[in-house]
Formats: sequence, C-alpha cells, structure tokens
Amino acid sequence: MARDYYALLGVARNATDQEIKRAYRKLARELHPDVNPDPEAQEKFREVSTAYEVLADPEKRRVVDLGGDPLESGAGMGGGFSGAGFGGLGDVFEAFFGGMNTSAGGRKPRGRVQPGADSLLRTRLSLQECAVGVTKHLTVDTAILCDLCQGSGTNGNSKPVRCETCGGAGEVQTVQRSFLGQVMTSRPCPTCRGAGETIPDPCRKCGGDGRVRSRREIAAPIPAGVANGMRVRLAAQGEVGPGGGPAGDLYVEIVEQPHDTFVRDGDDLHCTIRVPMVDAALGATVVIDTILDGPVELTIPAGTQPGEASVLRGHGMPKLRANSRGDLIAHLDIVVPTKLDSKQADLLHKYKGMRVNEHTEVLSAQSEHNSGLFARLRASFSGR
Ligand SMILES: [Zn+2]
Ligand SMILES: [Zn+2]
Repeated sequence: MARDYYALLGVARNATDQEIKRAYRKLARELHPDVNPDPEAQEKFREVSTAYEVLADPEKRRVVDLGGDPLESGAGMGGGFSGAGFGGLGDVFEAFFGGMNTSAGGRKPRGRVQPGADSLLRTRLSLQECAVGVTKHLTVDTAILCDLCQGSGTNGNSKPVRCETCGGAGEVQTVQRSFLGQVMTSRPCPTCRGAGETIPDPCRKCGGDGRVRSRREIAAPIPAGVANGMRVRLAAQGEVGPGGGPAGDLYVEIVEQPHDTFVRDGDDLHCTIRVPMVDAALGATVVIDTILDGPVELTIPAGTQPGEASVLRGHGMPKLRANSRGDLIAHLDIVVPTKLDSKQADLLHKYKGMRVNEHTEVLSAQSEHNSGLFARLRASFSGR
C-alpha cells in the first residue's frame, strides 16, 4: 500500500496548503535533529519531511489523491505512477477517464453489419446547365449488396460463429507500461476486426463481406441555380456497408465550367459589351444575349461614359430553391474608331470646331473619375 502522507503530517485529506505547511512546521520544531537527538525522532523527521515534500507539490499530491505514491518505483521522472500503488487498474482509469473504457467486456462488439460509407463524385456542368437545372447520368463505381448471400456473407445455410480470439468481445486487451504505470488498452480484435464473430464458410461471391463492387448508372437530378463546389446529396446511393449494412449517401459535386460571355458572381452575371463612341454619345438601343431569356434589349443612355454599367434586373442566374433571379450587369466598353475615312474625319473636324466646354485636362489623383479608374486597375491587377 502507498504510504499515507496525510496521516504522517496529521492533516485531513482535504487540508489546505496553509494547513499542510502549518502542520509540517509544528512537527519540524518538535522533531528536528537540532532540538531532538532521539534516533526515533530523526527517523520520524525524515518521514514528515518527505510527506511535506509530496503534499506541498500539487502534481505529487494529485498522484496521492488518486491512490498512488509519487515516490515509489518508476517515479524517477518525478511523480510517476507505479502499478504497485493501486488497488486495481480500474480505479486509475476511472480517475483519469471518468469510468470510460475501464475493463474487458465493458464494450459491445461493434458487429459485422456496418453502415456504408458516403461517396463523392464530381461532375462538370456548363453555366447553362447550372441555370436551367439538369438530370446528369453518371457512372458510379461502388459497393452494392451481394446478390448471392443477400449481405449475410455466409455460404448457403452456414452461420457465423463466435470469434475464438476475442471470445466474441470484438476487442483484445493489452497491458502497457506508461507514465501512469500499467495501462490496459483495448484494440479491435485482429481476427474478426471487431465484429465478435467470424464466418467459417464464407459466401463464394463476396468472400464474407456481404457486398461486391459494381459499376452502375444513376440519374442525378441537379436543381437550377447550383454553383461551383456545391454538392447535391443522393440519399442511400453511396456504398453498401460491410455485412450488407445500409448504404451511405452519394454526393455529387458541381464543377462549373467557365462561360464564353458571362462571368458569374453569386446569382449575378457580368458581361462586357463594346459600344461605338457615337452610340455612347447619342444613346442607343442594343440587343444582348442572356443566359435564360434569349436576346433582350438594352438601352444605352446618351452620354454614357467608359466603364459604366447597365443592370438588367432579374436576367441573371436563378436562385437556388427560391423563385427569383439575380441580375445581368452589362459593362460598357466604349470604342473609339481607329480608322476614319475622309468624310468621317471631316465630320469630326467640324464637330471639333463646334464644341464649347470640352478640353483636355489632367485630373488630380483624388478626383472621382480617377478613383473609379484606379479601383478598376487595382481590381484587374489583383486578378479579378
Ligand atoms: Zn475477434
Ligand atoms: Zn455474398
């Protein structure tokens, strides 16, 4: 048994640090070799000093309170445990792990029949398909129920038997030395892999697993409005579990392909249209393509500036599981003619002669025009 350090100091087990210190001082004054030459007193003094050394150290005291002796063999690292100090290993486990996983037989074998794993499949979708919604026909390579044994894993009418290695517990115990002293750990039985039973006469098709691998076609309904990275869950279309356990789910992840015209930002779409300088100056109506609504008229107001955008409300992507749509934002790229014939040049020269309030100027870097320009430059450099 462990030495009772509390009794040596004559204090209660719930004594405070102060009380322990006071008790030790009192005893030391009586027993110190300087004042008490009695050999018995010297022996007692040593014991009392040891008890104080242990109980004044929170770590060592904790070991004592758990039923151990921090100074017994194996304590070379300062406060280690020794198996000898304990009434039973179960106590240590209970103290440290709250009673979990204490001893053999405490846990049930996990059984041969297990739920199947979820599977993940990726599929490419065009922006158009994301907008409309689509049924994708996919080939899935997965585990399905063995049709020969219907998942039982046994051959004919043979039955599984209790595992001889673990006696049906599904796990085996090993005793290891650690800083806690001897520690018993459990691990799944290597023979039955935790099932607690084995199949002496396994199914000839699945080898006892209850499932076989198979390729099959599935139709995956993809709702309108999905976006890159989203996963559509198909319940119970994943792998059948070991022993014919219930199938997991199949997730189909959307890989959205870039579109030639539209750039997607959430439910909004962006496009760039080139507007001749004259149309920007005088105003015009142009026809642009949309993702779902065919050609749509877009009005460019007179005096449109480069970089301005027109918003076509509700002509973007459908919102997933909602009855509304994002917007289509048309960015206007105003094109200055590079080749003018003599008639056109003539007209522009005439226009030049007529203009009143137009002249070239250098803007301050803080001007509204420049801040918009610089913001766009920054955005383009940051890879947007
Ligand atoms: Zn076993
Ligand atoms: Zn089978």
